[in-house]
Amino acid sequence: MSAVVVVGAGPVGLSAALGLRAHGLDVVLLEADPEGRKRPGSRALFVHRETLHLLEGMRPGLAAEITGYGQTWHTKRTLYRGREVYSRTFPPPSGTPPFTSLRQVDTERFLLAACKDAGVEFVWGAKVEGVRVTDEQVVLTGGDGRIWRAPYVVAADGARSAVRREIGVPLEGNHSSGFHVVVDVADIPGEELPLERVFHYEHPGVGGRSVMRVPFTGGFQVDLQCRDDDRQEDFGTEESVRRWLPAVAGDGYAERILWVSTYRFLRKVAASYTDPLHRVLLVGEAAHLFPPFGARGMNSGIADAAAAADAVAAGTREAVADFDAKRRAAGLFNSDAAGTALAHLRPRRRIVRAKQRAAAALAPVLPRCGAWLEHAPYGPRNGSPASAGRKY
Ligand SMILES: Cc1cc2nc3c(=O)[nH]c(=O)nc-3n(C[C@H](O)[C@H](O)[C@H](O)COP(=O)(O)OP(=O)(O)OC[C@H]3O[C@@H](n4cnc5c(N)ncnc54)[C@H](O)[C@@H]3O)c2cc1C
Repeated sequence: MSAVVVVGAGPVGLSAALGLRAHGLDVVLLEADPEGRKRPGSRALFVHRETLHLLEGMRPGLAAEITGYGQTWHTKRTLYRGREVYSRTFPPPSGTPPFTSLRQVDTERFLLAACKDAGVEFVWGAKVEGVRVTDEQVVLTGGDGRIWRAPYVVAADGARSAVRREIGVPLEGNHSSGFHVVVDVADIPGEELPLERVFHYEHPGVGGRSVMRVPFTGGFQVDLQCRDDDRQEDFGTEESVRRWLPAVAGDGYAERILWVSTYRFLRKVAASYTDPLHRVLLVGEAAHLFPPFGARGMNSGIADAAAAADAVAAGTREAVADFDAKRRAAGLFNSDAAGTALAHLRPRRRIVRAKQRAAAALAPVLPRCGAWLEHAPYGPRNGSPASAGRKY
């Protein structure tokens, strides 16, 4: 088979390229950005155990490199209006940890190095704008008129996928009102905060908004859930973050902000993960958009990438149809799971808030109430091989 083309060098495209190389296929990876570009922020922090196993299968030693750099914490705590309602410390796992936490830019660094080692051919500054599919091949046209031909194309060109648009596949789903703010903060050397994930419902320091703090190597991420009528300029700019951050992280951190971003809650899944001729396979955010709670985006994207590589290696219409059916089912599962998490995180009905208040009151005597408060923000656990949402 002549070289397969992957479009997009985000974490999902890089994983797809690795998966294809693991099958012995030649791969050309087209990326719109120039080589050496700077990618922003922590973004998808969690690499789950299932994902580590997939990556290890593609490139032996890669999982150990990623976990060697990432952080795994053993303590999870939940607070409600300043009072602890859940705390659990797990024994350190033997073997692959349940997750590792590192900034997406670092995960991409490991994936990129692995791709180069594996012999993936990169074409930087190659923005795909046109796609034509025939029975035998896919013809891609770049913005500058260059042309690439491939028997199969794996499209990992992200949320605004030009490839998805060109093959005429819509995203279906909805979005919730409001936004949350994601902030990366550097550790104060020698005064690192405890290595634990803390979720705080109705934090009194930020007017009763919920906040999560998650460590990563070198710092931590803070997520603030804003109300529907909050204005970005009051919570989502670096200047406004400097005002509210000390109340949730402590003194000394306002000057250590690395990155601020706001994030909207989209739940969308492509109507199909392939074109009618089964030559283009959509993966990652080209195929689905989920809210970040539950860490479904990048993890399920890497599972898409592994499945796409298997389907391309099989090289049959049936294998691509099977990829489409299975990965789209996983996308719909994740979209529903994210909806359940959102209904808890951003309650529309008073009864949900009342249930949370009651659970917090009962937690000291009924530990399962505290456990419910701990687990619910991330949505249902996915027990299927769809490799996606897991609690962290
Ligand atoms: C601001 C922000 C905050 C986020 N926060 C979180 C978070 O807190 N937790 C979480 O789990 N997830 C978060 N995410 C989502 C997470 O970053 C994505 O799930 C992940 O990046 C998806 O990877 P991907 O490879 O599918 O797409 P991307 O990372 O978007 O990669 C797509 C690649 O394709 C390239 N490309 C695009 N168009 C073309 C084209 N026409 N031709 C060639 N190349 C092209 C792009 O340059 C890019 O390199 C966040 C995302 C953003 C933007």
